[in-house]
Amino acid sequence: MVVTSFGEEVSGLLSRLIQVDTTNPPGNETAAAELLRAYLEANGVVCELYARVPERANLVARIPGSGEGPSLLFLGHTDVVLADASEWSVPPFSGQVRNGEIWGRGALDMKGHVAANAVAIASLAREGFEPAGDLIFAATADEEVGDDFGLSWLCSEHPESVRSDYAVNEGGGDRLTVGSDVFWVVATAEKLTAPFNIRVHGRSGHASMPGIADNALVKAAKLIERIAAYRPEPQIQQEVGVFLQAVLGEVPSPETAVARTRERDRTVAEQIEPLLTPTFAPTMISASHKRNVIPAVCEIVVDCRLLPGQTPEEIEPIVRGVLGGDLEYHLEFLKAEGGTRSALDTPLWVRHRARAGCTASAGDLRGVHRQPLAPRSVRHRRVRLLPVPEHDTRARSDADSLG
Ligand SMILES: [Zn+2]
Repeated sequence: MVVTSFGEEVSGLLSRLIQVDTTNPPGNETAAAELLRAYLEANGVVCELYARVPERANLVARIPGSGEGPSLLFLGHTDVVLADASEWSVPPFSGQVRNGEIWGRGALDMKGHVAANAVAIASLAREGFEPAGDLIFAATADEEVGDDFGLSWLCSEHPESVRSDYAVNEGGGDRLTVGSDVFWVVATAEKLTAPFNIRVHGRSGHASMPGIADNALVKAAKLIERIAAYRPEPQIQQEVGVFLQAVLGEVPSPETAVARTRERDRTVAEQIEPLLTPTFAPTMISASHKRNVIPAVCEIVVDCRLLPGQTPEEIEPIVRGVLGGDLEYHLEFLKAEGGTRSALDTPLWVRHRARAGCTASAGDLRGVHRQPLAPRSVRHRRVRLLPVPEHDTRARSDADSLG
């Protein structure tokens, strides 16, 4: 096929990538890495495969810089989640083109983005581009399950391969259409996932005589209700402020932000709401394993997500206040993840903003770009900007769907 445009080049590569079944588990991402390697090397880009096991390779390609500028990493993953063919109107690994759209598992998450990244670096290499800093392309394995075959493994075993000053990843969110305006969302920070469990003790007994037992499940129910009823005070962090400014033309008070946004667009309001407060969602409970035994212990797991900058240490007394002092319980925060925030006064952000004709100013959790709707534009503008500090070799993938 004679390639006549970048769009066609990306489409062709994407179609071929979709045809490589990288359902995770088991992944088998090496087949996708080899396909990308063949394409990139044909365009003069030097590639390296790194694999913890032979069938699950990560590919890293690079146009070396002169060393006079910062390095930039285009990050993506090649594995996809399961596709049940009976639920699809086209075979999920066909990569079919239908009405100008490419169909298949991974088209959105995120082989389309990977293909666009690959074409970007390949076309620059063809043109003889000599960057000031390294331009790096990484197509990693095992993002969907996270069994340490992909980016986490790469960062711990081969940190130099992906060490970079800036990285662009998926996870910003979809294109938002609000009235006649179109917004492209860029996630520049993420909430901190800080789950905790609550263990309630009682006294076991036979279910036929509840009066002489002390049912831990019933006591736990009261605590669950208190968590569910809790309404944290909303706050508008700088990034959300920029988002609201772009969508509403002003920044309302934290108390009225959701209602004001809902007047404009219900879906956007739903997305904004959890960005104004920490969230607490009880999701798991375990108690007795037998119907006729009253449980002596009940354990609740609460999925808790904090705003960037908030810590489990400062939230714990608030949680205890919500739970009250009349019931005995044991509270334990589990491993927290995420909570990163990128600086926005960087050359990358400023350039990106200028290119997109952005109405937002720097300093955002979710910078919002506003630009005319381009028909048939590349659909994968979901980017996540994350600098990888010199001292921190762990480039992070998106931990929260909204950023
Ligand atoms: Zn993804």
